[in-house]
Amino acid sequence: MLKNKYICNDCGVNFMVIEVLVELSAFNIDKTFYYKVPENLIDKIKIGVRVLVPFSHQILEGFVMGFCNEEVDNDVKEIIDVIDEEVILNAELLELGKYISERTISTLISSYQVMLPKALKAKKKKDVSIKYITNVKIKNLDNYQLTSKQEEIVNVLKEKGQVLYQDLKKINTSVDTLIKNGVLEKVQVEKYRLELDTDIKEEKKVLTVDQKKVSDEVINNLGTSLTYLLYGVTGSGKTEVYMEVIEKVINEGKQALLLVPEITLASQITKRFCKRFDNIAILHSGLSDGEKYDEYRRIKRGEVDIVIGARSAIFAPLEKIGVIIIDECHSDTYKQDNMPRYDSLDVALFRSERHNCPVILGSATPTLTQFAKARRGLYKLLVLSKRVGKNNLPTVTLADMTKEERIKNTFFSKTLYDAINKTLDKNEQAILLINRRGYSSSITCKNCGFTMKCPHCDIGLTYHKGKDMLRCHYCGYATNKPVKCPNCHTDNLRELGSGTEKIEEELKDLFPKARTVRMDLDTTSKKGSHEKIITDFGEHKYDILLGTQMIAKGLDFPNVTLVGVITADTSLFVPSYKSSETTFQLLNQVAGRSGRGEKKGEVVIQTYNIDHYAINYASQNNYLGFFEEEMKNRLQSAYPPYFYLAYIVVKSKDYNLVSSEVNKISAILKNNLNNSIILGPSVCIPFKINDVCRFGILIKYKKEDNLNDVLRNLIDHYKGNNKIKIEIDFNPNNI
Ligand code: ADP
Ligand code: ZN
Repeated sequence: MLKNKYICNDCGVNFMVIEVLVELSAFNIDKTFYYKVPENLIDKIKIGVRVLVPFSHQILEGFVMGFCNEEVDNDVKEIIDVIDEEVILNAELLELGKYISERTISTLISSYQVMLPKALKAKKKKDVSIKYITNVKIKNLDNYQLTSKQEEIVNVLKEKGQVLYQDLKKINTSVDTLIKNGVLEKVQVEKYRLELDTDIKEEKKVLTVDQKKVSDEVINNLGTSLTYLLYGVTGSGKTEVYMEVIEKVINEGKQALLLVPEITLASQITKRFCKRFDNIAILHSGLSDGEKYDEYRRIKRGEVDIVIGARSAIFAPLEKIGVIIIDECHSDTYKQDNMPRYDSLDVALFRSERHNCPVILGSATPTLTQFAKARRGLYKLLVLSKRVGKNNLPTVTLADMTKEERIKNTFFSKTLYDAINKTLDKNEQAILLINRRGYSSSITCKNCGFTMKCPHCDIGLTYHKGKDMLRCHYCGYATNKPVKCPNCHTDNLRELGSGTEKIEEELKDLFPKARTVRMDLDTTSKKGSHEKIITDFGEHKYDILLGTQMIAKGLDFPNVTLVGVITADTSLFVPSYKSSETTFQLLNQVAGRSGRGEKKGEVVIQTYNIDHYAINYASQNNYLGFFEEEMKNRLQSAYPPYFYLAYIVVKSKDYNLVSSEVNKISAILKNNLNNSIILGPSVCIPFKINDVCRFGILIKYKKEDNLNDVLRNLIDHYKGNNKIKIEIDFNPNNI
């Protein structure tokens, strides 16, 4: 039995051992383990710091989760070291992790790991060390006779405090003498890698009556944990409202957290914020590990007023949050699609309770669930129904591709072709959207119909013309394009469909004088390339921006007066209950990029389904009409917001095993969940990824008290099984 009792410096608790959660994400070890603390480390132990511990035959990191003052067995091991000087999981984040793990049925450790930048990991520390620079400051001027040259240097330092050593040396080299004689001294200062340009400020805009009403409502309720849904048409000035609220929050000595769905938008909105605010931190996947690490430390030290970032920025370790804003709140990027499958909106609500601050969800096309919640009073609805100023919403023309003449047999209808020419003639700009969701340009043999498929996944390979390669978008498998069809050995392999590259070619062919730029996953894989395309397009270095979904949201270019949608329909026939909704959202959002400045905007949507309600409501910019109609469909087919969904995926490399287990699981669910509709098991689409076969079971429920327990039991049952994996996804994005 252990004899030594420790006393915690912070809280005075007596303890024998500490409880540590180690960094292995597996359900069978997702609990705390006891460790002793050697005498020399006792002072450093606090709840929420990381420690290094021996664990079976490895050395792992772990979080200190608690103290235990019960006597435990003698074979308890000692920790090796304490990693952090400061607590990195404070009380709020500790609780938040538990909440996420329970709500999403994820391992607790994964819920903590997702909150922290990767750069914090001890193993990574070597690559992303803190950067230092050498400054010079005055040490002791007493009785020192300065030459006139030296005086010049001292005067600069008197004015500025500290100056970069190299810069001083440029003024004159007497700086070295002064250092040697103890008049000046060198100091090492931390240097943050990322520097936003906040020098150029812009006068803030006078809010319209509607904007004022909306922002006053929120400002009057700062200090409460109300949730607002700000439903404002594209270009109605939502961003200005955010800034107004944030300014108030900062003046009250608090901080603001602003989430945007993706990095294209983050960089544009950050630019706008820099013209009005200082002390902004940004967090998104476009930053290097080192930059993320620096931004994280600035936030942790309380040096920032505003954090702007994508999904995981919701975990920013701010201590005094005054408002949380989620822009384009309908975006499905706010939900993570691997464990832990958390939704930033849920996390926002959790944090809003802790910090007593409101949440604003902003969108021109809230999800049906969000709007339905606002209708029922769960969210407070705020509306901006008009664009700012005299500026009207753009006129929308539908081009019926079943009837329209096509120019030179391309994907361009006469209507769109004429509209582009008109725009170019006026020296204005156009955005063209390729709707690629659920779609890829595959290679098919025109002779025998053979399609090139990934050998590891149950899906067609996508052709990348630039590199002349075929690639699997699921597992990354890549291969050269064969010359002959592997099946019939003739020369008839052809691209099917319209990839972005193909359309770009046609575009250049049809409008040889226009300067075009393409934005998709291929052209933006390099760091900073997003920003460059956006900035260059904003400066009218290009006339036409061609891109996928990533150009649809949020962009604000006053000179864009035409938006064209090459095919509206591709997302319509994706096998998902949300396909109409996502199509409507996409069309509405992209149309909203047109005519945002003084000039009148126009939109041309090419479609093969001119009578489809989603396309029609989008062309009339009629959100409410779409909402009512789609709600009826959802009621009839028992989908959200009338029912909640949980999707269970059972996977294994062993086909026979997985197909028999999934039937057992389905039977268990049907026996134990009496208030649910259970669909399946059926094959997932695609069925095979990376040689792993996947079956899914869909649970639809309104109120099922048992659900979490039943699913936890299921996870428990399989947790030691290496052959079968179970995944649980609440509110799945891709069903
Ligand atoms: P949203 O976020 O709703 O799409 P924005 O805030 O981007 O709308 O506003 C659309 C355009 O109108 C922007 O160019 C913005 O600068 C401008 N704008 C917004 N509010 C005002 C205002 N009160 N006065 C003048 N211009 C405004
Ligand atoms: Zn593959």
